[in-house]
Amino acid sequence: MTKLGKDKDDATGQEGQLSSRGGVCLSNLLVTLEQRLSVLSAEEVVWDQAVGRVLAEPVVASSPLPAFARAAMDGFAVQSTDLAEATAERPCCLRITGKAYPARPYLGEVAKGTAIRIMTGAPIPVGADAVVMLEDCEVSPDNQWVYFRRPVAPGRHVIAVGEDVAQGQLVLQAGRRLRPSDVALLVALGLSRCRVVRCPRVGLILTGPELVPPGCPPAVGQIVDSNSPMLAALIDRDGGRLVWLQRLPDERQQLLAVVQQALQQEIDLLLFCGGSSRGDEDFVPQVAAACGELVAHGLALKPGAPTGFAWLFSGPPMTRRLPAVLLPGNPVACLVAYELLAGRIVRRLAGRSWELPHRRRVLPLRDPVVSQPGRLDWVRVRFEQGRAVPLLGRGASSLFSLAEADGFLLVPENVAGYSAETPVEVYLFD
Ligand code: AMP
Ligand code: MG
Repeated sequence: MTKLGKDKDDATGQEGQLSSRGGVCLSNLLVTLEQRLSVLSAEEVVWDQAVGRVLAEPVVASSPLPAFARAAMDGFAVQSTDLAEATAERPCCLRITGKAYPARPYLGEVAKGTAIRIMTGAPIPVGADAVVMLEDCEVSPDNQWVYFRRPVAPGRHVIAVGEDVAQGQLVLQAGRRLRPSDVALLVALGLSRCRVVRCPRVGLILTGPELVPPGCPPAVGQIVDSNSPMLAALIDRDGGRLVWLQRLPDERQQLLAVVQQALQQEIDLLLFCGGSSRGDEDFVPQVAAACGELVAHGLALKPGAPTGFAWLFSGPPMTRRLPAVLLPGNPVACLVAYELLAGRIVRRLAGRSWELPHRRRVLPLRDPVVSQPGRLDWVRVRFEQGRAVPLLGRGASSLFSLAEADGFLLVPENVAGYSAETPVEVYLFD
């Protein structure tokens, strides 16, 4: 295990001594994890559950779309050769012999010299090869005859069989995240189910005797667990689902027992939150190491130094390796550790991108940002008159600083900071 880093993210914003003691380089850890983690297996879902899911297999059209030739306009279905001589001076006249509606086709044939009144979406009757739009037709007062003042090209206003999708065509690639219109395409092709990547199931263990569940009034010295709703929403955003949650005090034996319980659950990732530093009551790293392999603990990251990653082993004979992330308890540090590490794992399992999901914008910095070389800094910024204003010295516990910020920027390990007016890439919170 690589074990470095300072003891705790300081809630006062002074957690800056990490680089003197080093810390695990997040980028290196990510390279290893990206290779070791794979997309979950597939499951079948019905169309109404498919939006946002990632296709596990390509979709090939088993039938053409449309399956029958149909009218693209209201008008008259004709044999185009009948109108070859039509001019404004000498209109061509055809006898109206029937009507075609969507789902009520004209069952006869359009013979030479005849026309069929047709509505948009109706099947093109046998014999016809073009539709003249209503605006270009003159119907006799007795509705028996229709006049045309110019020729029509064959195929005009006819949507041909397979014009949209040919039978056997690959329409959606594996790995695609299904959009609402993709689901429309699937059902139009007659596919009511598709195979998608299974939704990652995430467990969460929160430690700290001071925590009360959201919605419960805290007693003196207690605080509301504000991290679990945030994490649940972030997991959701990344295509996973929080399915199992436990809150417990900082007690080693109890933590060990709950981790054993977690290993019995049907989960694909376990998150710990809190108790991940090196204080007297921070048992999470020890317990993670006792239940598997603590791969990294203490990152060169600000805020978020008390972050770690472990593989937990279970199921005789230790065949299952459950990925586990140790998140700091301080809310901002917790968010940062989730975004930069845990969220990537959720997305990888879900078949989504390893990259951060935020939209980005390049803006000049209003004020300089200083960072220690060797450390990755996550800096909250607010937008002001087209510039990014860094919110400095706000610490790892300030939830309001997140509300004030419009996004964040990253100062990589090999960069010592940015001077004012440097254009920086900002990741948007929206
Ligand atoms: P820890 O990481 O356990 O040392 O906690 C660091 C700080 O974060 C402490 O002030 C905790 O009270 C706070 N904290 C821990 N867990 C949570 C949580 N779930 N929600 C909000 N704050 C928390
Ligand atoms: Mg704690």
